[in-house]
Amino acid sequence: MKNKYGFIPYSTQEITDEDIDEVKRVLKSKFLTQGPAVETFENLICKKVNAKYGIAVNSGTSALHIACLSLNLGNEDIVWTTPNTFLASANCARYCGAKVDFVDIDLKTGLMCLNALKAKLEKASSLGRLPKVLIPVHLSGNSCKMEDFFKLSKKYGFKIIEDASHAVGSKYKGEPVGCCKYSDITVFSFHPVKIITTGEGGIAVTNNAALAQSMKDFSSHGVVRDSKRFKRKPDGPWIYEQQKLGFNYRMTDIQAALGSSQIKRLEKIVIERNNLFNYYHDSFHGTAIKLLETPKDVYSSRHLGIIYLSDKTSEEHKKIFKNLKLRNIGVQLHYSPVHLHPYYRNIGFKHGDFPNSELYAKKAMSIPLYPGLTKEMQNYIISSLNYEIENV
Ligand SMILES: *Cc1c(COP(=O)(O)O)cnc(C)c1O
Repeated sequence: MKNKYGFIPYSTQEITDEDIDEVKRVLKSKFLTQGPAVETFENLICKKVNAKYGIAVNSGTSALHIACLSLNLGNEDIVWTTPNTFLASANCARYCGAKVDFVDIDLKTGLMCLNALKAKLEKASSLGRLPKVLIPVHLSGNSCKMEDFFKLSKKYGFKIIEDASHAVGSKYKGEPVGCCKYSDITVFSFHPVKIITTGEGGIAVTNNAALAQSMKDFSSHGVVRDSKRFKRKPDGPWIYEQQKLGFNYRMTDIQAALGSSQIKRLEKIVIERNNLFNYYHDSFHGTAIKLLETPKDVYSSRHLGIIYLSDKTSEEHKKIFKNLKLRNIGVQLHYSPVHLHPYYRNIGFKHGDFPNSELYAKKAMSIPLYPGLTKEMQNYIISSLNYEIENV
């Protein structure tokens, strides 16, 4: 079953002629990396999300890793995140040797459940096994209940890294996600499926100068170039010194130029994504198809259009999924629970540990949503969905 549009992915980048011109400009300049374009991009992001400091790196995953490192995560520590996320939200803790555990989700939103978090914290507190860091994930651009999470972080003494990979351009309680009002660090990804892209890329933003400096150091070998910060007496003007074990996670100027060009359109992109989402929403009215709920207090970037087929069995869900793929519609599951991947099973997790996330994975499906998707394509997707759901 072919259609005239070819394969329609669940998301993809939008590149304009202006984007290309900006990248070309850097390609013809003196610096392809470690030049001025990265700082320009960092400043633009900080201004958009209302954060003081930004460290741009070569992926969202790297941003999560340096965020964990700057909070001194180590072997003795515990990190909690959601099972309903991309693997990197949990892997970043494992890179630091920390233990990972998960907080189950709310089925209506797919987000980390506040009540489950409260209950787990109470129990962990009595056992003396509280997390050092919590990593909530703003699935599809919908912010978690950050004000409540923040209050709990003060009560129980943990830090918060917001995994906002989906949420650049989102707002929570009227303020941009990334302003770090309720967290220590916020991380964004610029993979091509996300809201804006740099090819590969990410950024960690914070209002804390010490954390910013530490993340900056970790992103480039742990090397310090500012002689005022040297720990040994410099024996010449050429010296730099390595103070920590860092990585080469630097973003290139080529990537940063693309990002700076893209971020100019952020509001427009998010409005277009909202329009596409609303068209789905209105079209599904009165049918068996339901989109995940958007929490109140949230203006969403609409990274994903996730439908939830509550009355379908796991087998029916799989069949609908397969048939839509045959129609060249790039449906996806966001996400297959992290704790059930072989790596996490090998370290002790099993079926039944996080029942809501496991149930969710049998019902949820992301449908195509990205700037450039036409109404005609949306109508094709909607009618295909209705047909496959009715005839499964
Ligand atoms: C995309 C994504 C990441 C990782 O970002 P990369 O830039 O691909 O490394 C982390 N967490 C979530 C929730 C993501 O969607």
